[in-house]
Amino acid sequence: MGKALIIGAGGVAGVAAHKCCQNDKVFDAICIASRTKSKCDAIREAIKVHFPNSRTEVTTAQVDADDVKQLVTLINDYKPDIVLNLALPYQDLPIMDACLETGVHYVDTANYEPKDVAKFEYKWQWAYREKFEKAGITALLGSGFDPGVTGVFSAYAQKHHFDEINYLDILDCNAGSNGLPFATNFNPEINIREVSAKGSYFENGKFIETEPMSIKRVYNFPEIGPRDMYLLHHEEMESLALNLKGIKRIRFFMTFSQSYLDHLNALIDVGMTSIEPINFEGKEIVPLQFLKAVLPDPASLAARTKGKTNIGCIFRGKKNGKDKNYYLYNVCNHEECYQEVGAQAVSYTTGVPAMIGTSLVMTGAWQRPGVYNIEEFDPDPFMDALNKFGLPWQESFDPELVD
Ligand code: NDP
Repeated sequence: MGKALIIGAGGVAGVAAHKCCQNDKVFDAICIASRTKSKCDAIREAIKVHFPNSRTEVTTAQVDADDVKQLVTLINDYKPDIVLNLALPYQDLPIMDACLETGVHYVDTANYEPKDVAKFEYKWQWAYREKFEKAGITALLGSGFDPGVTGVFSAYAQKHHFDEINYLDILDCNAGSNGLPFATNFNPEINIREVSAKGSYFENGKFIETEPMSIKRVYNFPEIGPRDMYLLHHEEMESLALNLKGIKRIRFFMTFSQSYLDHLNALIDVGMTSIEPINFEGKEIVPLQFLKAVLPDPASLAARTKGKTNIGCIFRGKKNGKDKNYYLYNVCNHEECYQEVGAQAVSYTTGVPAMIGTSLVMTGAWQRPGVYNIEEFDPDPFMDALNKFGLPWQESFDPELVD
């Protein structure tokens, strides 16, 4: 049915590429292109092992996605129907520019962040709305798990279960363990920027900022048990605050182990998480980028990660004049992900929805010229695909609530 160009060759891209090949009725061909071509080739070899009967044709290429010219040349050579951006948030805008220049649809999983400011907001990408409308192409923003499935869950709850949703708590629990005292589950630089930034939540029409990790709750996660979780700022709150009818409050919580927090605090205290460049032996380096270089590559931890993740949304609102509570969540098992595609669950829970969003835009089900967040599309085909491609969802009408 179509051809997709995947940019990036990290943990998430590896899973998405596998899943495209599993969905070979939709993906006739994919090209995996990244800065380091050998990583793209390694993914292609792994796909041959995991899905030997797939009929999707896989090719690879080298590209610097900070360079619009190189991207345009690659797109013109390969002629994809869609570009799936699984590089880093810094590359969002150059890849969107290249899609505009070549008239190709765009999908990503994380909103743009300038390299020198640890602040992620949709304003830069929303500014492309008119250009994408005029070009007649679709940009689907945030098609991972959070953002991504959390937005789809919200649209599904709004469509099928509520007249209005008043309160939303997004809970992200990774109860997996890789046996190391400190390692991040996805790109360390992006992960540490996210968790060391100020927290925030949306309440009564505005965002309220909190000190990093200053709000803690304990939640008894289905299939996992009680875990400490902390309030963070998270990008999907910005669009959900606009797109959910009647919303009064949105909070986002993520679990962290005490060991992770102790290490992170020590690293913050000694300045290793700073994004301010420093001079070291005559060379300018960014401490956080140096830290990333000494931490393990998240993709390399897949084989040793055990346990489960549980990510979901608790909604409180009204249906037919009555109060209603509803919890939608997915539980994913690290070891099962490794067996299926050679990745851990954090990459898996992002890569599967990235493939699904890409397939829905590519096949036309979700095509609409402009720039859209995921909750702006009909959630039903996405919810069906989650069940089909490895992220089955569960629901509860009497969930434990977060105080
Ligand atoms: P990784 O660091 O494992 O992979 C990033 C890949 O992008 C690497 O292959 C890297 O190349 C490549 N890359 C970086 N810069 C460039 C460039 N200038 N040109 C070409 N390629 C480049 O990250 P993950 O796979 O863990 O994460 C990928 C994306 O997914 C990130 O944006 C992350 O924020 C997002 N994410 C979203 C989640 C969600 O639920 N929505 C959850 C987790 C992640 P090289 O190998 O050469 O460094």
